[in-house]
Amino acid sequence: MRRRVVVARGLAAASALSAAALGWRSRASSQGGGAGDAPLDALVIGAGLAGLACAQRLRAAGRRVLVLEARQRLGGRIWTERSQGLAIDLGASWLHGMANNPLYPLLTRELGLPVLPSDGLGQITVGPDGRRWDGARHERAEAWLAALVARAEQQGEPDQPLSALLPPRLSPDQRFTLIADVEHELGAAPGAIAADAPLGDGQPLLGGDALVPGGLDQLVRHLAQGLEIRLAQVVRQIHNSPQGVRVTTASGAVYQARGLCCSVPLGVLKAGSIRFEPPLPAAKQRAIETLGMGLLDKIVLLFPERFWDARGWLRNDGPEPGLWSEWVDLTALIGRPGLMGFNAAEVARRVARQSDGAIVSSALAQLRRCYPNAVIPEPSAVRITRWGDDPFALGSYSFAAVGSTNAMRQELGRRWQGMVLAGEAISPAFPATLQGAYLSGQHAAQSLLSLWGA
Ligand SMILES: Cc1cc2nc3c(=O)[nH]c(=O)nc-3n(C[C@H](O)[C@H](O)[C@H](O)COP(=O)(O)OP(=O)(O)OC[C@H]3O[C@@H](n4cnc5c(N)ncnc54)[C@H](O)[C@@H]3O)c2cc1C
Repeated sequence: MRRRVVVARGLAAASALSAAALGWRSRASSQGGGAGDAPLDALVIGAGLAGLACAQRLRAAGRRVLVLEARQRLGGRIWTERSQGLAIDLGASWLHGMANNPLYPLLTRELGLPVLPSDGLGQITVGPDGRRWDGARHERAEAWLAALVARAEQQGEPDQPLSALLPPRLSPDQRFTLIADVEHELGAAPGAIAADAPLGDGQPLLGGDALVPGGLDQLVRHLAQGLEIRLAQVVRQIHNSPQGVRVTTASGAVYQARGLCCSVPLGVLKAGSIRFEPPLPAAKQRAIETLGMGLLDKIVLLFPERFWDARGWLRNDGPEPGLWSEWVDLTALIGRPGLMGFNAAEVARRVARQSDGAIVSSALAQLRRCYPNAVIPEPSAVRITRWGDDPFALGSYSFAAVGSTNAMRQELGRRWQGMVLAGEAISPAFPATLQGAYLSGQHAAQSLLSLWGA
């Protein structure tokens, strides 16, 4: 999610955070579920923001918690790439809605970290003919989109696709604005988005956005402090009963506890990568199937020097709609000349199937189109994401797909026997965001504590 425009409303590499560094003390045996050991109060599946927030809240209440994480790193969809002395966020980048985002005071006041407000950054759009859009043309296109969004929010139905509210013919500027401000925002095409939630189904994000110099893994490190975490534990089965929970991993390890928070992404739940025994109740299963998992992919290109003039956003309304249509200048954030480009939805899926070399060539071709008079060298460093192929994400973030309602997120967050689901997709207030994941993890912890009478 990049939220460049608000239309109508307002790990030192994580692998360095090894289990040993975090003071791992397992109370569950890797075979047979810890017979003879004192039982754990809770297992938390997933060491993203939701899982870590849940585990911290339980730990603060004096409970014994073990976090099981499939990857060799913490953070999940927070993925700060640290090489060449840089910190570049390849998953989430922005703190959205600083005025009602609990992570903003946590980062700035508690951790004392600086943030880089990103509202009001300049933007330049280069049209298909190579000419640059002027301000008035931007304003017209965005006023059109604001009107469409307002109408969709008032008149749209959850069972209707947003595309049904579009005029039969879109002007090129309207089509580009729809791609840049809706398709990229939700990671999905208007044909897949529920008409009543054109910009998402949560509460408004207030107070502008900010980037975090130094990387969002600083937040992950903070939230992981003092927790017992075991990496490389791919959970395959969760057995859930009123007496307790039992978890089996791909390597056959078995863990048992009184309760469990499962914070794997919606994409993983959709794929059925984890078997629930007994199966999830029908209402939860229906919510999982109906809510959408969007896709946004990034490329980061570092260059010896800046050849671009856009201090902020470069928008590329190129010949192929949606391909590398947005770029953000990273120079102020990372202190080196760099650009981050985005693809979303079907375009992102298509690009992800190409080789790294072909992806870089296609990105450079678009930059050369935008700057025909510049000599653009090969980038000195490249990072490419493929979030849709990542087996522990299977997409970037959830969106209100046709047929889904915000109540489905609430349904997913309701405890079922000893288990509660958490994660951005389960947050009715702030789905698809960092704060949504964080708050849903805290909510899951509270739900387990209430079950135990704490
Ligand atoms: C490209 C991109 C850009 C984004 N931009 C923004 C942004 O700018 N601002 C914003 O607010 N949000 C953004 N988001 C969304 C944000 O990253 C997520 O909402 C948030 O990080 C989700 O946290 P989570 O804890 O719910 O899930 P995750 O962080 O995905 O954590 C789930 C964890 O479960 C683990 N897991 C999965 N399967 C298993 C298994 N079988 N066994 C054990 N563990 C498992 C995963 O490895 C992962 O660590 C972006 C996301 C992406 C991908």
